[in-house]
Amino acid sequence: MSNENNKSIHDFDFNLICEFFSYMERQGPGSPEVTLKALSFIDNLSDKSYIADIGCGTGGQTMVLAQHAPGSITGLDLFPRFIDQFNANAMKLNLQDRVHGITGSMDDLPFQKEELDLIWSEGAIYNIGFERGLNEWRKYLKPGGYIAVSESSWFTDERPAEINDFWMDAYPEIDTIPNQVAKIHKAGYLPVATFIFPETCWTEHYFALKNKAREIFLNKYAENKAAEELITSQSYEEELYGKYKEFYGYVFFIAKKVRQ
Ligand code: SAH
Repeated sequence: MSNENNKSIHDFDFNLICEFFSYMERQGPGSPEVTLKALSFIDNLSDKSYIADIGCGTGGQTMVLAQHAPGSITGLDLFPRFIDQFNANAMKLNLQDRVHGITGSMDDLPFQKEELDLIWSEGAIYNIGFERGLNEWRKYLKPGGYIAVSESSWFTDERPAEINDFWMDAYPEIDTIPNQVAKIHKAGYLPVATFIFPETCWTEHYFALKNKAREIFLNKYAENKAAEELITSQSYEEELYGKYKEFYGYVFFIAKKVRQ
């Protein structure tokens, strides 16, 4: 890291990051519309279905999913604070009989082999890595089960150095859409659909929430250097998106398990 402005999220204390993001309804770019569009490609669900939402955060997308898909859903996230909010949200929406949040890690999932009908994961698979996640999670899916993941993608083969450097530092596994589809195919899935998130998933549904969280956070942590730096890094991400959105964005990938 060369200066405070381009610190990546990985450089901050987890408690601080968690608190900041817990003030937001969702912790990554997305929207109810995009969640439902991804769900529209999935045709194997019934009341008996078992769905996992990996890296669920406070459950913004999980609750949308639960209101539009049958079956039961387990949301899993590394952070207990998110899971507490997740379960409170499920309760508020009267979904607690079908939707449960548990603390755990995506690299050691508590599911049985071939137990799941659907694996959902919005803006989270990067924590384990796209290819590794696809490969390791496949065993938990029933034959013919689906996976729906969103991941940041390059839109062009080449891009300006500033945005390239940012991503090479934050997540070097970011790739172009055709390369990501090829990885899905290689990992034993049939790629079913791919679509790019509209810009509002970033602006209205993510950065606007971040701005609100920022106010709460700065009031609470006035004069706290670590908190200020975290906010600065978040603003830098927003600035980069404004400047370079034609070069990258979030993409939903929906695929079906075709290999054991
Ligand atoms: N799916 C949510 C949250 C995305 S942010 C949404 O779209 O709003 C990424 C999430 O991954 C965070 O909630 C973070 O706590 C979680 N996470 C990070 N590392 C993880 C791990 N090893 N196992 C499970 N969850 C993890």
